[in-house]
Formats: sequence, structure tokens, C-alpha cells
Amino acid sequence: MSDCLFCRIVAGEIPASVVRESPTTLAFRDIAPQAPTHVLVIPKRHHADISSLAAADPAVAADVLREAHAVAVDESVAGSGYRLIFNTGPDAGQAVAHAHAHVLGGRALGALG
Ligand code: 5GP
Ligand code: ZN
Repeated sequence: MSDCLFCRIVAGEIPASVVRESPTTLAFRDIAPQAPTHVLVIPKRHHADISSLAAADPAVAADVLREAHAVAVDESVAGSGYRLIFNTGPDAGQAVAHAHAHVLGGRALGALG
């Protein structure tokens, strides 16, 4: 059994509210949403962060981006706008060391910082 939280969600060992799935990615609602739409899009295979994923498997990194936009369309926020965040490393507060895009939308998100 993996000790990676998101690998365990992919394996079905921990429940998640899945909104989309592709052969290489999974999208599910964040457990502590920071906006009306707050969905995480992850590669099914483990990579520690988005830069590691982009280096090792750029096609899957592109899948994550495409699926993130598809989530925004599904959630009806593609027109009003949305934000993608890839927290990477300690200063960004990356808490889960499995690459993930945050898809945030549904309200004016304000400035970064
Ligand atoms: P990070 O800070 O690493 O960029 O984001 C990790 C995100 O995972 C956080 O927004 C946090 O709320 C979310 N999260 C942590 N544990 C769980 C969980 O068990 N299920 C889901 N769906 N989200 C989680
Ligand atoms: Zn993992």
C-alpha cells in the first residue's frame, strides 16, 4: 500500500468526490474548498510535483492541463474565469507530494499573495 495520499485516492483506498477521469488523470473535489469550484487534477502515476511530471512525462503534464480546462467547462466557470495553481515546494505550502493542479473559480479570486 502506498503512503501517498493521492496514490491511495487513485487506488480507491480513500474515497474522493471524483468529477472527471481520463486514462492518465483523475479530478476530484478538494476536501477544504477555497472557492465555489475547487477541484484537484492529478496524474494517476506518482510524480512529486508538476516540474517532475513535466520532465518525466510531458504528455501527461499536458493531459493535466487539458483536464483542468475540461473541469472548468464542466463547472461552468470557463467563461467567468478560473485560476490554476501548482504549489511546488515548501514556500508554496505544497502539502501533498503528488503533482496536482488546483482549479479554482466561481467567484472573483482577487490578487495572488
Ligand atoms: P497543496 O497544499 O499540496 O497544494 O494542496 C493539497 C490539497 O489537498 C489541499 O487543498 C487540501 O485541502 C487537499 N486535501 C488534503 N487531503 C485531502 C483528502 O483526503 N481528500 C481531498 N479530496 N483533498 C485533500
Ligand atoms: Zn502519489
